[in-house]
Amino acid sequence: MLLFEPPPSQADIHFRLFGFPVRVHPLFWLSTALLGVTGGDRGTPPVELALWIAVVFVSILVHELGHAFVQRRFGGRPWITLHGFGGLASCNDCDRSPRSQILISLAGPAAGFLFVLLVAVALRLAGRSIGWAGELQTPEGVLAIPLLGRVLYWTPFESWQANLLLFNILWVNVFWGLINLLPVYPLDGGQVARELFLLGNPRQGIVYSLALSAVTGGAAAIWVLVNWRSIFTAAMFGYLAYVSYQTLQAYRANRW
Ligand SMILES: [Zn+2]
Repeated sequence: MLLFEPPPSQADIHFRLFGFPVRVHPLFWLSTALLGVTGGDRGTPPVELALWIAVVFVSILVHELGHAFVQRRFGGRPWITLHGFGGLASCNDCDRSPRSQILISLAGPAAGFLFVLLVAVALRLAGRSIGWAGELQTPEGVLAIPLLGRVLYWTPFESWQANLLLFNILWVNVFWGLINLLPVYPLDGGQVARELFLLGNPRQGIVYSLALSAVTGGAAAIWVLVNWRSIFTAAMFGYLAYVSYQTLQAYRANRW
């Protein structure tokens, strides 16, 4: 989500994955842990928290790898940073043409959806039932998460850890992937919207995309608050809408 990289720190972890340099900033672990603390009377048991952090770590890596592979496909030499607000695949030498930028942006959420598809195929091959169906077609005795008017379901595992692991994988890769596609800056959908608007109208494209971002961000904040009662996510969308509105004002002040 951040468009800039945090400065290097003593506690950074460095490694290479598929040839891409990866840096994990310490705030990544902290913010992911905070997101995973569900509160309540029992608090969050350590195993639950560890499963959550592991799934977020792998899923954000998969997402950024999606961006990075397409950036490399277009001749760039990207690197990946995981930080306190998610991840970033950056490069100095990437192809900046709208078509490339659109494909690069879409590749992040697409990688997450592909990851879930592979998990689903593996489970089916192992003889388990997992799918996405209308509520009436859903088999009996399954665990289900509502998604876009239907439900994502699977036959429960014996161990609650396995069920939680699968729930987290679906939640992070499918829900965050879909949220990421909303045309809100600086989410991936916001970048796609900007490039599309710029293709249609090079002079006013940025202004239109900022206005769309402010309106969508505001609407998403209200929707999330009413339907999910998630103050954290609502506050995030409210903040992004506000920043888009501010940028829009600044843009207009400079232009006219
Ligand atoms: Zn992304």
